[in-house]
Amino acid sequence: MTEAIHIVGAGPVGTLLALLLARRGQRVHLHERRADPRTAAAERGRSINLALAARGLRALEAAGALERIQGGMVQMTGRMLHEESGATRLLRYGQRANEVIWSISRAELNRELVAIAGESPLIELSFERRCIDADSERELLRFHDAVRDVEHEVAAGIIIGADGAGSAVRQALAAQDRCHASEEPLEHDYKELHIAAGADGRHRMEAHALHIWPRGNFMLIALPNRDGSFTATLFLPRTGAHSFATLDSAARVQQFFAAQFPDALALLPNLAAQFAAHPQSPLATLHCWPWHAGRTLLIGDAAHAIVPFHGQGLNCGFEDCLVLDALLQKHPDVAQAFAHFEAERRINTDAIAQMALENYQEMRDTVRSADFESRKTLANELERLYPQRFIPRYSMVMFHPEIPYVDALQRGIAQERLLDVLLSQNIAADSEAARQLLFEAGL
Ligand SMILES: Cc1cc2nc3c(=O)[nH]c(=O)nc-3n(C[C@H](O)[C@H](O)[C@H](O)COP(=O)(O)OP(=O)(O)OC[C@H]3O[C@@H](n4cnc5c(N)ncnc54)[C@H](O)[C@@H]3O)c2cc1C
Repeated sequence: MTEAIHIVGAGPVGTLLALLLARRGQRVHLHERRADPRTAAAERGRSINLALAARGLRALEAAGALERIQGGMVQMTGRMLHEESGATRLLRYGQRANEVIWSISRAELNRELVAIAGESPLIELSFERRCIDADSERELLRFHDAVRDVEHEVAAGIIIGADGAGSAVRQALAAQDRCHASEEPLEHDYKELHIAAGADGRHRMEAHALHIWPRGNFMLIALPNRDGSFTATLFLPRTGAHSFATLDSAARVQQFFAAQFPDALALLPNLAAQFAAHPQSPLATLHCWPWHAGRTLLIGDAAHAIVPFHGQGLNCGFEDCLVLDALLQKHPDVAQAFAHFEAERRINTDAIAQMALENYQEMRDTVRSADFESRKTLANELERLYPQRFIPRYSMVMFHPEIPYVDALQRGIAQERLLDVLLSQNIAADSEAARQLLFEAGL
C-alpha cells in the first residue's frame, strides 16, 4: 500500500503496530499527544510497571523489538502471598521453567519502542500533537499542536485510533454516531506506591515474584523493578468500611497499613506522604461497538480497555497488532480487513474482559483458601497426565498464545466442572474414572 497509515497514539500498542506495518514496507505516521519520550524527562519518583506474558512477548518478537527490551524485564515465577502475620508462601504460576511472567517499566518499554520506530525510514513520528477530532467519512484528522499552539487538519485516509482508554478518535466516532461506547466502572479504585531499593541497591523482598497481600475485599500487590525497587498498587473499594473514603488522614492510612499489611508498611517509611501525593484512580471495562467506520479503526485500550487483574490489557493490545497486521496483508481492501479484525477479536476481547474481572476475586480472596490450593494441585496433576487436554485456565491465558482467549474461557468452564466432580467424589487424577470424565467433558 503506497498510502501512509495514520496512527493516533504512540503508546505501546500504536508504536508496536507501526513497527509491524513498517517491517513489510508500509509507511506509517504516528501522532502522539505527549512529548517525545526519547528526550523528555521521565516523571520523577514514578516507576510504574506492568506484567508481560507470552502473547505480548510473541508480538514484540514479531516486530523485532524483543531483544532490545529484554534487558529491562524482571522474571516473576509466581505469586508470593503475604498473610496478615507477615508469613509468606510462593504459589508458582506454572509447572514448567518457561511458565513465568515478566515485569517491565511502562516508561522504558514505551521509550524503547519509540526509539526503534525512530530508526525506521518508513515511520514518521510527531509529538505534542493532540488529536481533537477524527472524521471517518471525510478521512480527516484534526490536531492541536502544543509547540506552536495551533490547530491543523491532516488528510489522513486510513486512521487507526490507538489513543488509549480515553480515546479521542473513539469519542469523535461516537459523536458522529459511528460507534457506541459505555464504561462499566469497578467499585474499587487503585493507588500506586513506590517501595525503594535497599541501601545496597537490592530488592528488599523476593525479586522474582509478584507479591500479593490478599485481604478478601481488597488487596495490595507489588511488582519488581530492575533498579531494586518495587511498584506497589493498592486496590480498594471507594466507599465502605475498608475503603479509600475512610483513609482520609495520615494517621488512618498508617493504622490501616499497620493492621493489614505490616510487612509492607516496614518498607514504606514515607507512606503517608506518598499516599497523599499519588492519585487515586478509577478502573473500568470499556464496551464499544463497532470498532471501525469505513477506513477508521480503534485498537488496544481505545477499543476494549479492561480491568488489570489478569495482567493482560497490553498483552491483548499487542495481540491485536499481530492479528491486524496479518489481516491487512490478506485483505487489500482496508475496510474489509477492519471488519474481519472486529469479527475475530471482539469475542476474544470480551472473553479476556470477563476473565480479568473474575481474576480480581481470585487474587484478593480465593487464592487464600485451602480449596484453592487443592484445586490447583489437582489441576497441575491433570495437566501433567494430559498435557494436551487439560491446561489450567491461568496458564492458557498467560503461557499459551496459540489458544484464543475465548477458548481459554470455555475450556476453563469445562475444566472447573471436572475438578468439582473429581474433588466431590474423591476421584484420583490418574484413575480410569477421571480419564473417562475428561473425555466426556469434551476436553
Ligand atoms: C493499574 C494498571 C495496571 C496494569 N497492568 C497491566 C499488566 O500487568 N499487564 C498488561 O498487559 N496490561 C496492564 N494494564 C493495561 C495496560 O496498561 C493497557 O492495556 C495498555 O497501556 C494499553 O496500551 P495502548 O497503547 O492501547 O494505550 P495507552 O497505553 O493508554 O497509550 C495511548 C497513547 O495515546 C496517547 N494519546 C491519548 N490521547 C491522545 C490524543 N488525543 N492524541 C494523540 N495521542 C493521544 C497517549 O499519550 C498514549 O501515549 C494495566 C493497567 C492499569 C490501569
